[in-house]
Amino acid sequence: MNIPKSGVIETPVLVVGGGPVGLALALDLGRRGVECVVVEQNAGQTDHPKASAINARSMEFFRRWGVSEQVKTAAAPDGFPHTAFYCTSLAGFEIARIERPNHGGRAPTKESPERPQRCNQIWLDPILRDAATDHECVTLWRQCRFERLAEKTGHVESVVADLATGEERLIVSRYVVDCSGGRSPIRAAFGVDMKGSDYLGYFISVFVRIPNLWDYHDKGRAALIDFVDEKGAWRNFVLLDGRELYRMAARSKEFYDAPDKVDIESLFRKACGRDDVPHEFISTRRWSARNVVADAYKIGRVMLAGDAAHINHPASGIGLNTGLGDIWDLGWKLEAVLKGWGGTGLLDAYEAERRPVGQGNIDHANTSHAADRALPPDPAIAEDSPAGAAARKRLGDDIMAKAPKKFITDGIALGYRYAHSPLIAGDGSPEPPRTISTYEATTWPGSRAPHAFLPDGRSTIDLYGEGFHLLRLGEGAPSPEPLVRAFAARGAPLAVTTVASPEIAALHERSLVLVRPDGHVAWRGDAAPADPAALADKVRGA
Ligand SMILES: Cc1cc2nc3c(=O)[nH]c(=O)nc-3n(C[C@H](O)[C@H](O)[C@H](O)COP(=O)(O)OP(=O)(O)OC[C@H]3O[C@@H](n4cnc5c(N)ncnc54)[C@H](O)[C@@H]3O)c2cc1C
Repeated sequence: MNIPKSGVIETPVLVVGGGPVGLALALDLGRRGVECVVVEQNAGQTDHPKASAINARSMEFFRRWGVSEQVKTAAAPDGFPHTAFYCTSLAGFEIARIERPNHGGRAPTKESPERPQRCNQIWLDPILRDAATDHECVTLWRQCRFERLAEKTGHVESVVADLATGEERLIVSRYVVDCSGGRSPIRAAFGVDMKGSDYLGYFISVFVRIPNLWDYHDKGRAALIDFVDEKGAWRNFVLLDGRELYRMAARSKEFYDAPDKVDIESLFRKACGRDDVPHEFISTRRWSARNVVADAYKIGRVMLAGDAAHINHPASGIGLNTGLGDIWDLGWKLEAVLKGWGGTGLLDAYEAERRPVGQGNIDHANTSHAADRALPPDPAIAEDSPAGAAARKRLGDDIMAKAPKKFITDGIALGYRYAHSPLIAGDGSPEPPRTISTYEATTWPGSRAPHAFLPDGRSTIDLYGEGFHLLRLGEGAPSPEPLVRAFAARGAPLAVTTVASPEIAALHERSLVLVRPDGHVAWRGDAAPADPAALADKVRGA
């Protein structure tokens, strides 16, 4: 769609940046019937691969948006192992191997109806774009650069430039969501600092076609292959399509400073450990990695989301997943506020809910890549000798002590909680423990409500999305009426589902569980709340 040539453009929500996070927000708002304009400076989507690791929670969002099947079809084929292994070269010695049997494929797990997938952004972003722009209320302007904004009473005035004509246009919106990535001009204009690790890693990334790579080595199919030489871990192959496309990354400031001078061919041959593996280099980019989080996620009517709010080292594979979590939290709140059934306290709580998650994920990314960098170099590592075998054993043990936390992060994906949110009514029970790699279902207020299959084949997860949902669990669950009346009096949508199954009731720990549109538990109890009106006001940010 073209940018109008004249007139002030009015929209409830301006989304700055049409990367995956901005497009996902547009899709979520589109499904909610909330009008928005997305401005993106580039003419097309990324053609060089970045994110591939899509966690189970993001897959649940895609399921809600009706695109999870498309994502699975575009992802690595069912049955392709999501194994990660470390070796000296493909022709050399294996050092460590991490299997991820719960990743990929279609069968549900105990924790979720969706499994983590590997679908690179070069396929994912167009899926999100097409699904978003299918909604009439979503407008995407490409070659349209955000320039500056000013907050006025009750609205924001933003100036964008039509890069095709050079003309500037004024957009007036109730809210602006900044999804403009790590170099956000909005964050910079507000002077919002990013804090975290001082580490700055420098890389080159090579998009490469290698048909049937596994025919040229004895280590089997894998999603991630890390190479270690006498100086330590230095490069990896990341599988993209499960057939022939990979991203080869190599860490080096020298490579980053002069990518055109890098002898990519010899890097590739060293990784393969042989010279005859057919391949074709498609494109090369350079990138730097940091682990930092913005000091503020909300400034007046402007919210920061995705890489604009937090930058994660890719080693942990959670940057995009965290960004999708941000906009999943924002979409329903914007709808509620714009349609009048939510108070502005909903948006004010965005930072209290999402910044601790961003910080936690940054901390995890920091630990993961620090563990990689700390792998002790050993001059004997590739030797075919007792000293070489001992070096590989030492390193393998070290990797296996730390790496599963890097590669298996189901606890991060599904277990994050809004423990300190003003919108969550805690029940005074102690917070259950959390781990990085495993997820334990709980309805502790603030947690993602658990998944279980209902007798009609739907997941409980499928119940949530449009408004609040009250689950009545087990025989003799209390009447929903007090809460139904309180929500109705405020025009706030509340659906009620009664589930008799004793197993599902036990999983939910209480006989009444109030779930928000984003699938997080807002309140739970074994009797109707003492003050249903106060509870309804708290959870809708009134
Ligand atoms: C090599 C690599 C591998 C990665 N692997 C993973 C992974 O496996 N899993 C994972 O979860 N994450 C991964 N990540 C991180 C992931 O790619 C990012 O978190 C994700 O791209 C962030 O999306 P975003 O939409 O917030 O920002 P971006 O993708 O940066 O998009 C921002 C958009 O805003 C546009 N924009 C910027 N300024 C303006 C302006 N002034 N006007 C208009 N438009 C503007 C940009 O053109 C861009 O299109 C990886 C990153 C890298 C570099």
